[in-house]
Order: sequence, then structure tokens, then C-alpha cells
Amino acid sequence: MPKIIQLEQHVADLIAAGEVVERPSSVVKELIENSIDSGAGIITVEISSGGMTYIRITDNGCGIAPGDAKTAFFRHATSKLHNAEGLEAIDTLGFRGEALAAIAAVSRVELMTREVNSAEGISLTLEAGEVIDMSPVGCPEGTTIIVRDLFFNTPARLKFMKSDRAEASSIASVVLRAALSRPDVSIRFIRDGKTEYHTPGDSRIDSCVYSLLGREIEAGFLSAESSDENIAVEGYVSSPVSARGNRSYQFFFVNGRVIRSILLQTALEQAYKNTLPSGRFPSCVLFITTKTSNVDVNVHPAKTEVKFISDKQVFDGVYYAALGALNKGQTINDKGQIGDRLKRQESMAGSQWLSEGGSSGKQKVESGSSRGMWKVESRKLGDGESNNGFRTMQADEFRGSYVSEPQKAFNFPLSACEASEASRIIGEALNVYIIIEKDNSVWFIDKHAAHERILFDSLKSGNYTPMSESLLTPVICRLGHEDAVVLLENAGFLESLGFSVESFGEDSVAVRHIPADIDIGDTESVLSDLCPQLRRSGVAETAGRDSIYKTIACKAAIKAGKSSEKRELETLVDRVMSGEISQCPHGRPVAFELKKNVLDKGFGRV
Ligand code: ADP
Ligand code: MG
Repeated sequence: MPKIIQLEQHVADLIAAGEVVERPSSVVKELIENSIDSGAGIITVEISSGGMTYIRITDNGCGIAPGDAKTAFFRHATSKLHNAEGLEAIDTLGFRGEALAAIAAVSRVELMTREVNSAEGISLTLEAGEVIDMSPVGCPEGTTIIVRDLFFNTPARLKFMKSDRAEASSIASVVLRAALSRPDVSIRFIRDGKTEYHTPGDSRIDSCVYSLLGREIEAGFLSAESSDENIAVEGYVSSPVSARGNRSYQFFFVNGRVIRSILLQTALEQAYKNTLPSGRFPSCVLFITTKTSNVDVNVHPAKTEVKFISDKQVFDGVYYAALGALNKGQTINDKGQIGDRLKRQESMAGSQWLSEGGSSGKQKVESGSSRGMWKVESRKLGDGESNNGFRTMQADEFRGSYVSEPQKAFNFPLSACEASEASRIIGEALNVYIIIEKDNSVWFIDKHAAHERILFDSLKSGNYTPMSESLLTPVICRLGHEDAVVLLENAGFLESLGFSVESFGEDSVAVRHIPADIDIGDTESVLSDLCPQLRRSGVAETAGRDSIYKTIACKAAIKAGKSSEKRELETLVDRVMSGEISQCPHGRPVAFELKKNVLDKGFGRV
């Protein structure tokens, strides 16, 4: 065994710094927390080049005494915790005494600070953790910290930084969360000279939400609250009609701390269980307050996770707050909106275009005047096409197809046609399964799964360039700043899929083209589904690209529960029966064989 040595202090410091300061946004997070802890009412955050070259945070808080300025940069030096018992009752955001030491160890830092009511301030300059200058200075009350050239002395970490744009967007999201967490503090965020956020600091949650998330989000929020002797929950949850395609607008604060927690997320979403379809998520800004002794904040170096003494109390607090808001919202504030939505659905249903089997044309479905009957017009059929002209169907049946549920009976019979030499299409059942007779078997093909596989394979092999459909008016997708940035960074790749995305304000993109196979109404949800995949592994890796192709294939494939044209079904049958495909991209089978002898057995023939 090689000899064991104790690491030199500065190496140990660099290792410790790596835990706290992962990227520029971790610096910003720690410094804003310090400013909030200092009692500041006004905080300004300025960055350039994604925070890599320059971060400056100014506050009007209590300031640091000249005699304490150096100590503040020692490891485990803090004014917020004095002994082990103190850990039970942390009421500040910081307490570990590590942030300033960690930041200083990997950058060039300047501190200027003046205590309230003292005549003079102090300025301190550090490089890689070493103090290189300390002198008295005239400055406003409060503290300014400038951090330059982050990771200049740790090239290994520098290599892992993303583009300035991505780092800036991560900082923006940290500032946004911090600003939301404290409506009583006015926070300004200036990025490359331009103000991005500025909250009024008037202690009103609504004005804080409005200035950070915009009018549209704020308008979709219902106020939520619940309280008992253990826990109080206050804030906003979104009305069901304002649900989004992802969770990026779920904000939880526990005793003023920004927290990511599956428990809280689940409690919120449980309240929407019967109101939202899968793939749609509620948004929220919820402040959870409980006794400091009920929460353990010392479980994560970046303090973004906590442990609760009673998960159930917290779960119930959030769940009932959200449920109460939904119930109240529906009967009082939201009634109009829900009524409107139903009306909209009805009117959409009344002019839905359906294609009917046996015809390659589209038919307009009109609602009959008496309940229960829908009339289907069809265009005149050409030679060789078979159709019985008009067809009536039950209203319930039609609605079934509108909400994508399989219908109960055999739908339009297809004329028996030759799909391939030895197989014959008999029809389509439940708007999902194509039925085929081949040799001594009856086959069922899941049309969505089969089409999905075909699209996936061709996307993957590069043989498929989706036809791009140009939209008369662009679709504006408000996905949040982080997602908007990810999409813009991958605009070239998205173009190869048929989407053209352009920047539209800070947290939105304008979409001018979409792949022709994708429903315009699905634009936002598809793009929002792609964001985590683009972020996670990016398009450079095969695994990442595959999961993106799966999403596109799934959305572009013909839908189960919707009727399809005969030609589409024939093509699918050809590809499946030739043995070319057998499983959908998710691994489910696309075809199922029922052998004649099994049928015969069932009927007691053998
Ligand atoms: P912690 O926040 O965990 O105490 P830090 O390393 O972040 O540790 O800060 C060390 C100490 O420096 C703090 O405890 C506080 O006393 C002082 N300090 C840091 N930033 C500020 C600030 N903006 N205003 C006043 N004091 C500050
Ligand atoms: Mg701190």
C-alpha cells in the first residue's frame, strides 16, 4: 500500500469547494442567500458571460465588521450557528460557513462591506483563497461581492462548463426562485447589462409572481391555503385549464428555502388526479411554514433538499391547500373558464374532420339537431372505391373517438383488399386494431404502435426528413426560460425534425413550422417533452437522439382511437406482415396472431 498522507490545506479546500460550487449558478445561489440572511431589502445581481467572468451581488443588509471580514472566508466560519443545539433551530438560509471559503478558493473575489451605522467600510481582495489586499474603503451600507474568473485555477472543473447561455439560464432560474421565495425583498437581475427581473419587494405574493412569471401565469393561478397547528401552506396553484406540459413552474418553499421535493410534487399532483390528463402538470408557488424543529435542513451540501419529521403532515398540508383551491376555484372564480372550455370542446366536436374507411377523402361531421345523431357527409367516391355514401353514428360513439377512447364496435368495414400477396385486410376494430387474415391465422395489428415503429426506424436511419408545415400564425410556447434556451440551442437539430423555433421574449419560443404529421395543438407539449431529453444527454449521443426520435414518432404516428384512411392501414399491414417490424420503439409488440386451430378449439371444432 502507498503511504497515507494528510492532504495539504489548499487541496482539501479545493475538494470541499467542488461540493458547494458546482457552476456559476451555485455561486449566485450562495451569495443571494447571504444577502437575504443579512436582512437586506434590496439585492442586485449582475452577471456577464454566463457568470464565468463576472458576478456581482450588492445588498443593503447589515454588512460585515472590518474585524470579521477575513474570518468570513475561513472554512466553517459563520455568524449563524454557534453550537450543535443550534442545528435544531436554523432560521437562516446559510449555516455551514462554507460558501465564501469555497467560492474564494476557486476564483478572484472582491468584497466591499460597511456595517450599518459605522463610518467606514472595508475592502478585501482574494485570489484562489489567499487574501492579497485589505484596506478601509468608503462604500454604502451593506455588502458588495464581486466574483471574477470562476474556476481559473481548477481547469478540470472549467472543462465541464456549458455554454455561457446555458450557465446564464441556470443563474436566471436560481435568481427567479430566490426572488419568488421572498416577496418582501426587491431583487433585480441584470444580465450582460440588461435587466431581466425586477421584483417590487412590496411583500405581496401576487405582485412578485406577476413580475417574475408574467401576467398569463398569474392569471391562471388560484389562491391556496391550509393550516393546522403543525404546518401552514400559502400561495397559488394553477387552475386545471392552465396546466402545462412539464413541471418547470412548480415552486415550493419550505420556511423560505427553495426546495425540490418529490413528496411536495406528488402531494400537489394528487390534488389534480381527476382533473388533469396524463402528461399535463399543475404549476404552483407554495410557501410551506412549519416549526424549524420539524425540518432537517442539513441533508444536502447545496441545501436544496430537506427532511421532514412527518412526511404525512406536509403531504396533507399541500394536498388540501391545492384541493381547496380547486374546489373553490371551480365554484367561484373559475366557473366561467370551465364552462367556456366545455363550450369550446363541443364546438370543436361539431366541426371535427374525420376520414372514413373506404374513402381517401375527408368528411365533415356535423352535429344533428336531436341528441344522439351525427351526420357524416362524404365526397363523391371514385371508381373502385367502396362506400355506402352516408353513415350515421351515435353521438357517444363520436365523442369516444374525440377523446381518443377506443370505440365499442367494429367501425367502418374496409373493403377486403390485398395488402400483400398472401394476406387480406378484413377490417379495423375499435379504431385501434387492424384485422388481417393470412394463411391459417387471423392477425391483429396495433396501428399506432406499428406506425410509431416505422417512423422511429426511418428517423433513426436518417431516411426520414419530416415534411415541415408552415403555420399561418406562429405558435407561441411559453415553456419557461430554461426550456426556451435549450430549444434555441438545439434549433438546428429541431429543424432537421421539421420544427423551426425562434426566440420570443425571455421564456417563450415562437414556432413557425412543425412536422406535418404533428397536430398543431400538440406543438407545445411535444417541444416541452423534448426539453428534458435535449438537456439530459443532448443530441450528440445516440441514446439521447433515440429518446427524442421516440417522442416524435409517438406524436406523429396515427392515433389509436381515431379513424384512419384505408391507404395508411394498407401500408402499415404491408410493413408488418413482411416481418420488417415486430415491436414498437417502447418494446411492445405491434402484431398479435390468433391461429386457426386456437379458434377451432374455442368453438369446439377440434
Ligand atoms: P454561512 O452563510 O453558512 O454562514 P458563508 O460562508 O456563506 O457561511 O458566510 C460566512 C459569514 O459571512 C456569514 O455567516 C455572515 O456572517 C457573513 N456574510 C456573508 N455574506 C454576507 C452579506 N452579504 N452580508 C452580511 N454578512 C455576510
Ligand atoms: Mg452562506
